[in-house]
Amino acid sequence: MCDFCHKHGEGEKWYLKAKNYSEDLLSDLRRQKLITGFLSNPESMEEDMLQMKKLDDAPGFIRRAVSWNVSRKMKRDHFGQVVPIEDVERIFDFVGSIVRIACICRHISIRSEARYCYGVSMAPDMGAFEELVNDLQPSYLTGPDTAGLETLSKDEALASFREHEREGLCHTVWTFGTPFIGGICNCDRTDCMAMQAQLAHEVPVMWRAEYIAGIDPDLCSGCRACMQLCQFGAISYSAAREKSVIDLRRCYGCGICRSACPKDAIFLSDRGSVPVAANLW
Ligand code: SF4
Ligand code: SF4
Repeated sequence: MCDFCHKHGEGEKWYLKAKNYSEDLLSDLRRQKLITGFLSNPESMEEDMLQMKKLDDAPGFIRRAVSWNVSRKMKRDHFGQVVPIEDVERIFDFVGSIVRIACICRHISIRSEARYCYGVSMAPDMGAFEELVNDLQPSYLTGPDTAGLETLSKDEALASFREHEREGLCHTVWTFGTPFIGGICNCDRTDCMAMQAQLAHEVPVMWRAEYIAGIDPDLCSGCRACMQLCQFGAISYSAAREKSVIDLRRCYGCGICRSACPKDAIFLSDRGSVPVAANLW
């Protein structure tokens, strides 16, 4: 289990605890300030990424110190975890409302609206979250060229997430003032700043999933379709065996590769049950 499961989930998956989505947590004024600051100034994320790129050229000890500090702050304010679609569905089972919104990362990185992010709330009408957004009116969320906050049913949201899986996007939950969880995103390493921070600049901003993937060699035909979808470069092909194999040290356990497999050969296991991956977060 990741550190948040111990601290915020009583030893169970923290993101499946309804209390971590509560209106009570959202009523905290410091948390509201954090959320409005995040939504009203997306350009600050661009500045953060420029700083991270500069950091790549710094001596190792400086990079490690800055990375540790940034990660510690993110764990307090805005940290993520990869979640497979089964757990997204479990979250949708207990939240009161779901809205689809424009992705803040793509707004910055490709200067275009891409509706890959979802706000969730225990309230039936997004409660205080909608009030915050309406007060703020950030142009990329509610401006004239956007679809605004689209309210979705659980089935509509799940259908949308399945489509994102076919696009190879990895589902991630995000805190806004940990442990409060306000949204679920669909990430790739090309456009998402969090994935770039995590993978390209080695600044931890998200936990790996509580799961790890495996391939049943008896079912795998070696078609390599799964390799195209893995954002983490965890799948390779063995020409000698004519099978694909997963590098357990690289696998984040998102489960996205399963959506490409015509043989149903890929499965997820509990991360803790696989010794080589059990302590990789
Ligand atoms: S191999 Fe692991 S990280 Fe890559 S897509 Fe599959 S589950 Fe995700
Ligand atoms: S998609 Fe499935 S069958 Fe094809 S290589 Fe990957 S695991 Fe094997």
